[in-house]
Amino acid sequence: MIEIRHHTFGQPIIILEFDDSQEVIIYNDKLDSIFNHPEIQDRKVVILSLIGAFRGGKSFFLDYCLRFLYAHFPSINNPNKVTSFIFKKDDTWMGEPDEPLTGFSWRSGTKRDTTGIIMWSDVFLHTIDRTGEKIAIFVMDTQGLFDNDSTAESNSKIFALGTLIPSIQVLNIKGIIQENQLEYLQFATEYAINSAMDIVNKKAFQSLTFLMRDWDNNDEYKYGIDGGSQYLKQLLKPRRNENKKLQSVRKSLSSSFDQTRCCLLPHPGRVVASNGTYDGSWFEMDVDFKNELKSSIEDMLISTNMVIKKINSKEVTGKEMKDYIQKYFEIFQS
Ligand code: GDP
Ligand code: MG
Repeated sequence: MIEIRHHTFGQPIIILEFDDSQEVIIYNDKLDSIFNHPEIQDRKVVILSLIGAFRGGKSFFLDYCLRFLYAHFPSINNPNKVTSFIFKKDDTWMGEPDEPLTGFSWRSGTKRDTTGIIMWSDVFLHTIDRTGEKIAIFVMDTQGLFDNDSTAESNSKIFALGTLIPSIQVLNIKGIIQENQLEYLQFATEYAINSAMDIVNKKAFQSLTFLMRDWDNNDEYKYGIDGGSQYLKQLLKPRRNENKKLQSVRKSLSSSFDQTRCCLLPHPGRVVASNGTYDGSWFEMDVDFKNELKSSIEDMLISTNMVIKKINSKEVTGKEMKDYIQKYFEIFQS
């Protein structure tokens, strides 16, 4: 049976954006339609987000996440899908080998995209087996961070907003983690915490995953989650004689996030990385990449790793989340 392709169910919706003078604009009607939907407003929320420099393959990765979610969960626009959690043995969720990749627009051309936060209009519905709790799963993309035209100020604001909103934050990084990236992360999370101090207490964030792209050190640290956690452990390991800066980065990360994880993805191959007419289908990916893409998404989105959004230690519903987003927006407006 041929499944209906997921792009027929939803579309990317800009909820927050920066205009040319770096002012943040919020689209309340869009927020309303997503978070105050009758089926959503009282559910607990899980928000998956990718953040990182432009042209890092973020939207591409999220579009495969959408494929996973559409294959396993019903959604507002696809309510009749029967939940099936038997994905470990098969890769049918990845779609046909030659199926063009749709969803959030990826491979942005030379033209500059808007800088902002974009949500997938369709929302996934899930009931947690263990507790019977009903949750709503949102997918969020960020755009325009660290591109040639963005200013330090808008970078900080978008990073802060993009870190305050999700419950599962994925930081997309190409190559290896550089010390200055960790310092930026520390700066940005502390900036977010300090700005939102009246709204959230110190342990503001939940899950942070470093998603390493084009990992080429498979000899030392193997692709995937296990290699990733060894790499992260090594990176954040206290060292004798280490500089003060790194020490404070490590402290800051562990006091801000409940959980940090890391996943190493191989280079996707020449076609994916450089062919201008490539359509995103998986048969053109290097086989290692395809396999690691599959298992990293499965790992990120298995039921037990679905982190429910908490603010001030309290789980948040759809309609509460909308109010929080509006409050956060007000902070960063000026
Ligand atoms: P975004 O700006 O971070 O959202 O990046 P996109 O998802 O739009 O992807 C930008 C380009 O990177 C596209 O041409 C993709 O084919 C390519 N791409 C996707 N994944 C990877 C990856 O893991 N490594 C490399 N080198 N390129 C990738
Ligand atoms: Mg993108």
